[in-house]
Amino acid sequence: MANEVNEASLREQLVEQYKYVEGIGLNELSSGNLSVRFGDNMLISPSGATSENITTDTVVEVSLEGEWEGDRKPSSEWRMHAAIYLKHEKTEAVVHTHSDYCVALACQLKPLPGFHYLVGSFGGNDVPCVPYSTFGTQSLGDDAAEALTDRTACLLGNHGMIARGRNLKATVSLAHRLEIMCRQYVLTSQLKEPELLTDKQWEEFFDRAQKVSYGRFI
Ligand SMILES: [Zn+2]
Repeated sequence: MANEVNEASLREQLVEQYKYVEGIGLNELSSGNLSVRFGDNMLISPSGATSENITTDTVVEVSLEGEWEGDRKPSSEWRMHAAIYLKHEKTEAVVHTHSDYCVALACQLKPLPGFHYLVGSFGGNDVPCVPYSTFGTQSLGDDAAEALTDRTACLLGNHGMIARGRNLKATVSLAHRLEIMCRQYVLTSQLKEPELLTDKQWEEFFDRAQKVSYGRFI
């Protein structure tokens, strides 16, 4: 019974957050996908989901090996979500988007550099970018899972971004924050390439961040 209540609650959260992500403009025309860990499996948004057609019944339960039942197919990016849950056992939720400014940077195949101290809220002095792989492939999943070893988000070359976190709401916030940081980086880059924080400044940041338990989840 407890498990059924938990499942119902997770399905509701997933639908609510899927709509929220679309509402704040991070996801348009079914391009992104959200999942939560559910026991040994995951619950993931279905292929072709939009905020208009997603319901608690269309959310798909998939094993981390890719088995599911029923008519609805899981998101075509289930391998990337599964690879992250398999490699990072503390991860409870994964959010993938094609948000505008993340895509703008990801198409340069360069990390988001440490131009602002809040870049550190993803766990290090940059947010890495993995090479391009065809969507839905294991290599994309493996690269993303590896890049998230000591980060909570990464850019996906010529594609978008992905984040992992302790629950769905917190992970959606990471996706939102990364979009803001990429937008601000693009803005300042138009003036000239910005100054980056120094190693000493990062050391002080992480020291301070640890003292105030500020936003770090690895
Ligand atoms: Zn995608």
